Amino acid sequence: MAPAELAAAGWSVALLERNADIGGFIATEERTLPGYLHDTYSSWHPLFVSGPAHAVLGERLRQHGLTYRNTEEWVTASVADDGRATLAHRDPERTADGFADPADRTAYLAVLRRYERNMESLGGLLGGEPRSPEALRHLARLSRDAGRAGRERWPRSLASGGRGYARSEFRGGEVDHLYAPWLLHTGLSPDQAPGGFMLPLLAVTLHGFGLPVAAGGSGRFLDAFRSLLDSLGVRVETGAEVERIVVKRGRAVGVVAGGRFVGARRAVLASVTPTALYGELLPEDAAVGGLREEAARFRPGRGAMQIHVALSAPPEWRDGRLAAIPLIHLSDGSGSTGIACAEAEAGLLPRRPTVAVGQQYVLDPSRVPPGAAALWLQLQEVPFTPLGDAAGELDTTAGWTPELARGYADRVLDRVAAHAPGLREKILAVDVISPVHLAAHNPNAICGDPYGGSAELDQSFLWRPLPGSGRHATPLPGLWHIGASTHPGPGLGGASGHMVATALTTA
Ligand SMILES: Cc1cc2nc3c(=O)[nH]c(=O)nc-3n(C[C@H](O)[C@H](O)[C@H](O)COP(=O)(O)OP(=O)(O)OC[C@H]3O[C@@H](n4cnc5c(N)ncnc54)[C@H](O)[C@@H]3O)c2cc1C
Repeated sequence: MAPAELAAAGWSVALLERNADIGGFIATEERTLPGYLHDTYSSWHPLFVSGPAHAVLGERLRQHGLTYRNTEEWVTASVADDGRATLAHRDPERTADGFADPADRTAYLAVLRRYERNMESLGGLLGGEPRSPEALRHLARLSRDAGRAGRERWPRSLASGGRGYARSEFRGGEVDHLYAPWLLHTGLSPDQAPGGFMLPLLAVTLHGFGLPVAAGGSGRFLDAFRSLLDSLGVRVETGAEVERIVVKRGRAVGVVAGGRFVGARRAVLASVTPTALYGELLPEDAAVGGLREEAARFRPGRGAMQIHVALSAPPEWRDGRLAAIPLIHLSDGSGSTGIACAEAEAGLLPRRPTVAVGQQYVLDPSRVPPGAAALWLQLQEVPFTPLGDAAGELDTTAGWTPELARGYADRVLDRVAAHAPGLREKILAVDVISPVHLAAHNPNAICGDPYGGSAELDQSFLWRPLPGSGRHATPLPGLWHIGASTHPGPGLGGASGHMVATALTTA
């Protein structure tokens, strides 16, 4: 979003992208059969729609053709192996009605209210520089909420994982079942901090904003963005890999792409990992203090994998309520998701992976032929270098070969078919994107990590991108660091670019 905001403020902007198209992990393609429009990578835009970049650019994108489809009804569900389903509705009360224990209903609504009551401060912290006087003001306001107990609650939730949080706050298992798999979408596992803070935030966001998808596919978002950039005079150069950042007299003055110098009078914004910024793009003698050493220790999170399925007809879910739900998780909650994460972290292909089953056609039937359906299956517990198979079935010795990718996709499809009998007979085509493909498509996905670096507490907030640089300004004047590897982390929020554009245009 930064190029659009800077250009709108009158700056002359060039956007350099190494791939043939802009968009990174945003694309829509007919990856299986003609007439089936699959969001190749990302798909759901609640972060963007709820974030500060949308507040600035949302209306302009709409004028350039972007429209969203969303649900006002049931938004997400988790289904356990035994068929038990927990559902979330846009309406928090209807969601809470599904919890068996009355105390959990009260507790759930209370925590949502607490987050909503403090949304200005939470939004300010997530959408602003963590090391700033404004952040301190937001923290002070949060700490005044609900007295001493409230003061302690925020830091304790930040220090805890989602599983521990749900166990402490709720007697029954519904909240854990519903939201533990959602933690994967923040790059966490059920036991990693700050899951205890993120879990209610996910719930508030889903209730408040649903799961918007771009009408016609995420590619239409890019069309609108590209059209907006054109209208603002942004020079977009694709197939232009930045090889280095040029520093003169201690200041970033441009980049070299394809052997050609592109000068930047005011600022260079780098949407890359710290590994690339400090380890590859900057000259070795650039004055960046200890950041080069810190960047060498920046670690990626788990790998991911994407499977696209063209179906002749919608799945017939055993639990008929699932037919209208855009995004379903196949998981027992922290139990199976925690095990699958641990297996992946140990280099094993999980035996019972958590499957995120996207049914975008429910919101946007234009993506599939009449009467047909498509599934967007996301796996977020995948080793980049498989050392074995937790189920002892697949041969991993040659790494991510097409055979291994297909074999693992079969396990995933069996998991879906267990809840939707007859699914196999409806499958017309399958497309598998392995973690190796993700890394090849986008160098920011180190080891197939879709989220630009582990999002555990020690690499988040004050310490993202690096402990010595928990901000978007770098030690080099004129050089700014944005993207998923920086605060507030991964997702299609556009917040880091917005923060930097705001800082530059209001300075
Ligand atoms: C399969 C998948 C599904 C996802 N689903 C969702 C979802 O539904 N909702 C959501 O909110 N998030 C989702 N995410 C996460 C989200 O896509 C990322 O967090 C987000 O795209 C990160 O954006 P970014 O601005 O950091 O840039 P990126 O998307 O990482 O793009 C960076 C761009 O810079 C280019 N680049 C890198 N180095 C250079 C260089 N040296 N020279 C020139 N160009 C370079 C890359 O080619 C890339 O195009 C998903 C991710 C994946 C992989």
